[in-house]
Amino acid sequence: MAVERTLSIIKPDATKRNLTGKINAKFEDAGLRIVAQKRIQLTPAQAGVFYEVHKERPFYGELCDFMASGPVVVQVLEGEGAIAKNREVMGATNPADAAPGTVRADFAESVGENSVHGSDAADTAAQEIAYFFSGLELVG
Ligand code: UDP
Ligand code: MG
Repeated sequence: MAVERTLSIIKPDATKRNLTGKINAKFEDAGLRIVAQKRIQLTPAQAGVFYEVHKERPFYGELCDFMASGPVVVQVLEGEGAIAKNREVMGATNPADAAPGTVRADFAESVGENSVHGSDAADTAAQEIAYFFSGLELVG
């Protein structure tokens, strides 16, 4: 399997509870390397552009407000099959359905406030990485 990069976000519910290190440990334990990382505060408009694919969904407004409600840690994870591997480490969107030991099973508060984002495919990963990082900021 090829080495890939994927975009990860530690969401405001998790930064608020000081869980960045515990979540990063799960990524690193799974063999994912954090090759870029920064803590930023999004505006609702910036969150809206990031989640544009969901703009027709009923939860879109709430999701954008939540993502702008506190600091987030945006990061690029690298490794063999990193896109799918990160989705495994994250667990299902709804923490009630997330496998034991996953980030969302251990830390998520609800289907909306679910601690992490991860890209879902190669094209979205490339697009989402470029939204937050320049090539100069990616050091593998
Ligand atoms: N979300 C929500 N309600 C839902 C489904 C999703 O609030 O019924 C939020 C949740 O924060 C989720 C994000 O919208 O992580 C993006 O949804 P997606 O289906 O892409 O889930 P993910 O890829 O994050 O697992
Ligand atoms: Mg998604």
